[in-house]
Amino acid sequence: MKGKLFVVATPIGNLEDITLRAVNTLKDVDVILAENPNHSRRLLQHYDINKKLIQYNEHNEQRLIGYALELAEEGNNIGLISDAGTPTIQDPGYRLIETFLKNDIKVVPIPGVSAAIAALSASGLPTDKFLFIGFLPKGPIKKRKFLKNYDTDATLIIYESPNRVIKTLEAICDAFGEDREIVVARELTKIYEEFIRGCVKEVLEKFKSKDSIKGEFVILIKKA
Ligand code: SAM
Repeated sequence: MKGKLFVVATPIGNLEDITLRAVNTLKDVDVILAENPNHSRRLLQHYDINKKLIQYNEHNEQRLIGYALELAEEGNNIGLISDAGTPTIQDPGYRLIETFLKNDIKVVPIPGVSAAIAALSASGLPTDKFLFIGFLPKGPIKKRKFLKNYDTDATLIIYESPNRVIKTLEAICDAFGEDREIVVARELTKIYEEFIRGCVKEVLEKFKSKDSIKGEFVILIKKA
């Protein structure tokens, strides 16, 4: 019998944000494909999970997909995890899943945290319609054009890194005007978790007044 691929969500900061089913699945599988085994080891040790870890990321995925497929064809169950949150959501895994499905290997989601949904759920912005657009392209003109394409009647959700957050806020200001309401969710589930709410001009000023910008960010934009 062929094995299965389990797509397992892991925490985005707080180690307790993992489901019982995720822990049991990671204990049961034969091998775990991890985006960064060194990073995941802390979580796995915390839950007493001692499994063979194989690095799987965008640099080696071409080579690894064939190997993982062989393992599954031989009957091994495989767990896929990323550094944080749900694999394949702005993380590697899509090509692996596509190949497994083409080869009639069952793919099972083990749901849990994703930064986008955690941020949206407490943002105070409308949740009836939302559009996740991931990381913006680099460069102010590309950012603006990209944003303009998505000026819909939905809350927009963007991922951003600390060194680009100001540039992205400037692009939002440029694309949608300085009065557009936004929420910046920073360091979700961690000690310094915070939500910065206001119009984009106010939020941008707050960020520009900081000596340094640290952490991980989700930016949410209210519909016009
Ligand atoms: N797969 C992950 C998920 O399900 O959310 C996303 C991985 S993506 C490579 C990393 C980005 O997610 C970060 O740059 C940041 O925008 C967002 N992110 C991850 N953890 C976060 C956290 N604790 N607080 C805020 N944003 C976070």
